[in-house]
Amino acid sequence: MPPGVEAHSFEPKPTDIAKISEADIFIYTSEVMEPWVNNVLENISHKRLIIIKSTAVVNSETTEDDPHVWLDLTKAQKIVDSITGSLLDFDAPNAVLYLNNSKSYKEKLIALDDSYKRELLNCKNKEIILAGHSAFAYLAKRYNLDYLAAQGFSPDQEISSKQMIDLVKEIKEKKISSLYYEELIDPKMAQSLSRETGVKILELNAAHNIAKDDLKNGKTFLNIMSENLNNLKIGLECQL
Ligand SMILES: [Zn+2]
Repeated sequence: MPPGVEAHSFEPKPTDIAKISEADIFIYTSEVMEPWVNNVLENISHKRLIIIKSTAVVNSETTEDDPHVWLDLTKAQKIVDSITGSLLDFDAPNAVLYLNNSKSYKEKLIALDDSYKRELLNCKNKEIILAGHSAFAYLAKRYNLDYLAAQGFSPDQEISSKQMIDLVKEIKEKKISSLYYEELIDPKMAQSLSRETGVKILELNAAHNIAKDDLKNGKTFLNIMSENLNNLKIGLECQL
């Protein structure tokens, strides 16, 4: 997927499909996240292509319609194992390299998960309100936070005025001080809610994809998730 593209609405071009047909390993999240996958795989000849649905390993722990499993850092570790497995199948002579990298990456995910647990324990507010599509339900559940998103599991749906009124009501009732907006999308909904309620707005990046500049600057998933933790601590008014 090219950097900066909104992931839910991404459709592969013929050149992308040609690349998939020449690849050794094809890794995707799920048919909900990439609804084009089955159609593409049916239409290319891929006898030797290793196909990995990376979220199959966490299937039993998830909601069918919510594809954002990578935002639960314990599920992310299982996804790392699944991807590592495919690399071992493909390139067994370098198994030690893959296993070492996998181990060290999972240690970083574990450390970050520990920081989330510790730093989100004592917060004045417990509810994440997102002026965007529902990407953070698994994250909220992992850290015992409440969660309300303006939209469903995909950003392509229009917000009704009733949904906007409900959000404003929730913000006022719960005395919410910060509202979150999502990455790679114009934050106009958050801005208009902020104007109406006086709350400040902060980004929560669901790491579906990486922005062009972030890619250039070497930003990683771990960096994005650390920034999210900082913004959650500010918005939920957490104290260590
Ligand atoms: Zn999403």
